[in-house]
Formats: sequence, C-alpha cells, structure tokens
Amino acid sequence: MRYALVNGEMSEAEKGLSGDCRGCGMSMLPRCGNVRIRHWAHKGKLVCDPWLKDKTQWHVQWQDNFPKTWQEFRFVAESGEMHIADVKTIKDWVIEFQHSPIAPGERQARNNFYKKLVWVVDGARRKRDKSKFFESLSKVVDVSNPQSPVRRVYRVSWNTW
Ligand SMILES: [Zn+2]
Repeated sequence: MRYALVNGEMSEAEKGLSGDCRGCGMSMLPRCGNVRIRHWAHKGKLVCDPWLKDKTQWHVQWQDNFPKTWQEFRFVAESGEMHIADVKTIKDWVIEFQHSPIAPGERQARNNFYKKLVWVVDGARRKRDKSKFFESLSKVVDVSNPQSPVRRVYRVSWNTW
C-alpha cells in the first residue's frame, strides 16, 4: 500500500518509520528499495485485502490527480468483507486504476463489491495497444440503456494479445 498510518497520519513509506495498515490496523513495514516504488507491506505474510497489488508509477500518478484523503479508501460490506479502493470521491464513486491484466473473476468481484465503480485502464501499456485501440473504434457497439436517452455507453473490444 502507498499509505500507512504513522502517529495517526497518512504517511508514505520512508526508511525507519513503522506504520499501521489503514485496512486492518496491523503493523506495516516500509519498503524503499530500488526495484519497486516505495510502499508499505504487512509484517508477515497475511494481507488483509487480496485485491491489493504492487502499484506502478502509472498507478500512483493517476491517484495523485485526487486528494490524498480520497486515496486508498477502506470499504467494509455488511458481510464483513473489506477492500481498499484506489480512490473514493465525495460523491461515493470508486475509481480503480488498472495497469496490469486482471482475471475476469476478480474484475467481476470488484464490479459487484463497489456499487458505483469507474475503471481507468491503461490502454497503452504495450507498444501496439494504442494503434489496436484506434483500429477497434470502427467496431464500436452502442450498449446504452434505451430508457436513458441522455447517457450513452459504448463498448469497444479489442484483442490484447
Ligand atoms: Zn491490512
């Protein structure tokens, strides 16, 4: 995770700090190596949110378009299931930033868990993604709800392999 609580404040990982997870309250250790971006890791192997993944610079840059207090927002369902959303707006929209491929089952689970969810997907992760995307625009399908004449929704599909 990018932030942990250090003396009650949302803090980024720095050598020498110790923090608490904003999801589960367990102790976290700062990871400040050269390979991955600075982050906090749970002490031990237990991770409270199985959807937590390593963040990339792309991910962090997107999150930084929003206030810090909106980032890594904790949601708990009535069932007790807990997840940490990338961003939650003041209108209760969740924004998930997805740079890496995601399994269809996990994508659907997130769609079900967060009721008002917007995905921001890195559509230019690989060299040919951008050109393939623009090629696919000729095959756009209007999937708008006919009961909602104002809001238009289009589906664009393209092979990512
Ligand atoms: Zn945790």
